This record gives sequence, C-alpha cells and structure tokens, in this order.
Amino acid sequence: MKKIQMVDLGGQYQKIKSEIGSSINEILESSAFINGPIVKEFQLNLENYLGVNHVIPCANGTDALQVAMMGLGLKPGDEVITADFTFASTVEVIALLGLTPVLIDVCPNLFTINVEEIEKAITARTKAIVPVHLFGHCANMEAIMNIAEKYKLFVIEDCAQSMGAEYLFSNGKKLKCGNIGHVSATSFFPSKNLGCYGDGGAIFTNDDELAYKMRGIVNHGMYKRYHHDVVGVNSRLDSIQAAVLNAKLPHLDNYNRARQIAANKYSERLKDISLLILPDVRYHNSDNSESYNCHVFHQYTIRLVGGDRDNLVKYLNSKDIPCGVYYPIPLHKQKAYSDERYDESNFKITNQISDEVFSLPMHTELSDDQIDYITDNIRNYFS
Ligand SMILES: *Cc1c(COP(=O)(O)O)cnc(C)c1O
Repeated sequence: MKKIQMVDLGGQYQKIKSEIGSSINEILESSAFINGPIVKEFQLNLENYLGVNHVIPCANGTDALQVAMMGLGLKPGDEVITADFTFASTVEVIALLGLTPVLIDVCPNLFTINVEEIEKAITARTKAIVPVHLFGHCANMEAIMNIAEKYKLFVIEDCAQSMGAEYLFSNGKKLKCGNIGHVSATSFFPSKNLGCYGDGGAIFTNDDELAYKMRGIVNHGMYKRYHHDVVGVNSRLDSIQAAVLNAKLPHLDNYNRARQIAANKYSERLKDISLLILPDVRYHNSDNSESYNCHVFHQYTIRLVGGDRDNLVKYLNSKDIPCGVYYPIPLHKQKAYSDERYDESNFKITNQISDEVFSLPMHTELSDDQIDYITDNIRNYFS
C-alpha cells in the first residue's frame, strides 16, 4: 500500500503531467509571465464553468476577500458578520481594513454559519455577511440571501474550500457556489479542490460595476495606465499558475467526484461507531422539504463526542495515518481577534467542536486499500 498522505498532490500530478508540462512550457517559451494571454483564457474558462459574469484573478484567497471588501466600499466602523469556526483569513482582512468583525456560532454538524444567529447579530452598522462554505459544504445560502435582502446587506461568499460545489434552492434552481452572493472569493492554494502549484486566488461577481472597480483595485487602483484613481493593492495571478489552473479546471468535477466517493466509503465503514458524528452531507431547504448532496469534501471532518480526540489522533499517527485538526481554536479565542464584546455563551458550538473535530486524509488519489486501512484502524481503536 502506498504511504498515506493527508493530500497527495504528487499522485495527482503524475496523471496530468504532460498536460501541465506543455501548458507551463508555453509560458516559458512566450516569456509572458505576468498578465499573459493564459490568465485571460483561464478567467474566461472559469467564468464559463461557474456561470458567473466576471472572474477577477488575483494573488491568493486572502487578497480576494480583501479586494471584495474594498470593492464594496466597506469603511472603518462597518460591521461584518462571519463564522467563528473557520480559517483566519476572513477575520484577518476585516481587521486589516479597520472593519469590525462580528463572529458568530456555527451549526454543529454542517460546520457552516448558523443562520439563526446572523439575524440576532445585525445592528445599524452591519454592512456584510461572509458565509464560509467550510470543508466543501455550502452554507445555507437561501436563508442568508433572504436575510441580506431584508436588511440590505452584502453577501461575500468564501469559496476557498468549495470550488465546484452546487447549491439547490427550494424552487429547484441550482447554482454553483460562488455565483450566489454579491461577490465571492476563492483560493487556488495547492491543496484546495482547485489548486495551482503556488499561490493564486480569484474574485467572482455578476455586478459589472463592482467587477470594473475590483479589476482596478487589484492593479494598484489603476484604470488607465499610471493614473491611480483609488487606493489599490498589487495582487496578480501569474501566468504559470494560470497555466496550471487551465490544465486542471477540466478535471475539477472528476476530482470532486473522487473526493465524494472516498467520503462515502469512509462513512459506510464508520457509520456504526456511536462516538463518531460523521459529516452531514444533506442540505435542508427552509421548509425542510428536500435534501441535497452538494458537498465537495475539501475535508472529511468527524466529531468525536465524549472521547479524547487528541489521543485518537495520536493513535492514528502512530499507525502512519496522518490526521488534521481543522480548527483547534475558535477565532474569538485567538489572541489577535479576541475582544471583550464577545460573550462565551454565544459560542457554545464552536467551543465544543474545536475540541472534537479531526479530519481524515482527503484527496483525489485515495485507494480502497488505504481507506480500508484507515477505517480498520479507527474501528480497532474503538473496539
Ligand atoms: C485557504 C483559505 C483562505 C485563504 O486562501 P489563501 O490563498 O491561502 O490566502 C481563505 N478562506 C478559507 C476558508 C480558506 O480555506
């Protein structure tokens, strides 16, 4: 059996080596390293894939979130609501821009922002909601868009972990995540569902005016060469990364399918262990009528309830099974983001699940014997 890795980028590369090689070689031959035609080509391909009017490539997912907030014209003092249980990027850019982060609790099984808590957190200063489609599962976008409309708020989707996931509305309409909110941000960090071989990111929107604004912001606030109309940033997707992404985009649906198949196998083999809460793949409509699997499993994350998570992780590591803990500390408890405004009783779920969660190896190259080995060891631990 091949050595198990948390993410097997090498195995994936071996299968698309020639496509990647010729795609990168074209860049080397052309010397168009920055803003070459391939960046535009990838932009158009991704617009087409997502069904979104505008894709603005940029340097990484954190910049994408920042540029989205700058493009929306958010100003110091404006409050932005986001989930307490996620990677720090979102709250980091909110703080960098002098905005006020308002962290709220998440749903215990889906790990995405708790819609009921959003409405309670809205004040006269609230300007935006940032739902994170954590671990590859879409947040409850229908409810979030309804709240946003009612209170005239912007919705910025964080799609860094959910590229390719689809969301089903109660009227039967399906949209790719990233094509639902007013503006969306994603990351092409190598281990993401659509990853390049370095840093990369992009912003999506259907709003022509906002797209125009953000294209200038990523380019030093320039709309005409050497005319700086607004304060911008320098955030570019380089041509070599665009070449990698262009070669990988046509495989994205198959990659996500491979993740779903691996996740189903994990779930099948672990479902009778009573201390484990396995990922909930259903999405319930607001009237609870229908459920839909839109999970693209950036991570396969389990909760160990009433056990010692760190001990289990240690045991699995001793069997050469890597495990991740995403995320061990809720954002409101991080030194940089703690604030006396926060009341611990509002973070019951994030406080609990940050002690319970662990993620199994998840990538496109997991084999049946690896999944058997991993799940057999987990079963042994509990037997
Ligand atoms: C990876 C990630 C980001 C940041 O992306 P970078 O490209 O690393 O800046 C933002 N949000 C979430 C949820 C992520 O997982």
